[in-house]
Amino acid sequence: MLRTVAPQQGEYIRGHAGRLGLWNGFLSVEELLTVLDRKTRGDGDVRAPGHTYRLTARFGGLDSATYLKEHSLLPFCRIGARSDDEMFDFERLANLKSQTAWMQPKRGAYLCPTCVAKDERMLGFSYWRAFHQLPGIDTCPKHATALAVVYVDGAFDRLPGSWGTAAEPVDDELVALRAMPVVARYAEIAYAFMAKGQRVSRIAAIQCIRPKVEAMSFPIGTHIERSKLAHRIRDAFPEAWLEAHYPRLLGDCANVQSVNGLCGGSIVSGMVYAMALAATFSTSEEAVHCFYTAPSQRRKMPHASMCDSVETSKRRDDLLPHYIASEGMASYVAAKLGVGEPTALRWLKGVGLPSLGRLARPGRCRVIAFLSRASKDEIDHWIAAGSNVHAIIGG
Ligand SMILES: [Zn+2]
Repeated sequence: MLRTVAPQQGEYIRGHAGRLGLWNGFLSVEELLTVLDRKTRGDGDVRAPGHTYRLTARFGGLDSATYLKEHSLLPFCRIGARSDDEMFDFERLANLKSQTAWMQPKRGAYLCPTCVAKDERMLGFSYWRAFHQLPGIDTCPKHATALAVVYVDGAFDRLPGSWGTAAEPVDDELVALRAMPVVARYAEIAYAFMAKGQRVSRIAAIQCIRPKVEAMSFPIGTHIERSKLAHRIRDAFPEAWLEAHYPRLLGDCANVQSVNGLCGGSIVSGMVYAMALAATFSTSEEAVHCFYTAPSQRRKMPHASMCDSVETSKRRDDLLPHYIASEGMASYVAAKLGVGEPTALRWLKGVGLPSLGRLARPGRCRVIAFLSRASKDEIDHWIAAGSNVHAIIGG
């Protein structure tokens, strides 16, 4: 008679399978699965074998959909769905390949020594947490301490507490990076992806991220259009973090295509989405809210206009020096930024700076003199009143 073992909250699906095997006296998980498979078939269930999560879900006393949603890494790793119908469908993903449910994106098995000590004290045993296995996560969100990693095949077949000194702490430098706001935002966003357990249609995801990238990208060369999201991420994240977790963004620029693919709608990786959100939003709450809000409802968000105005003011700060140096003429601004005149006009208009190309030079100089001297408040006030150049020139 096999012993049923319910998974703990946030327990990693692969670790739970290991614990089931261990507590039922099997030498390996494979051995347990063979027995479970035989038993299931004996019970008259002849569904395709190999879908290991179904076997262990039943033994954890959970239905397989809930088991995947709460214990696998699919809510993070496969967050991008092709359509709205797939939002809660992790089973279809897991069925495509028998090992998808057990997906393990990082090399090694990760644990938090503080969680382990606490589990042993409170529960009498320790267990592997799903969140600690996510790419880009080096610290425990609960204890803010460094994770430790076990590089042994079959590490999940034993309890995390049993590895002792074989569990090596992750690099100090990576742990220190948690103090950087963008890295903290990444971890908070990853945590939200796992906690929500809900996929997002790729179209909705793109509609959330693309405007942010476009608003923040100012061309500094002619190639920026192609690779702006990748550049944005590369600028926002510390190099050491990228080197450890997403090295393809460093060095040779040819490999940024997969990241830019996000803007074209072909990428499903949770890591790319989490990096893109962390790099383009100033808080993780705002990013998560936007990401999970259907595009049709985003405009109605109460604080959307405030976010927009903060954004606009930031964009204006970026554009103003070019505008002043070009005496407010859109064609010069366009040449300076390496874009076409219509684009420059659109950007200037978007931040309330009128093209001064039609004004006579003395008039232009008065407007530019005002903008060069005026405080931020005075400029805000002038723009809010309709950017009236004649109010400055006086005529
Ligand atoms: Zn912990």
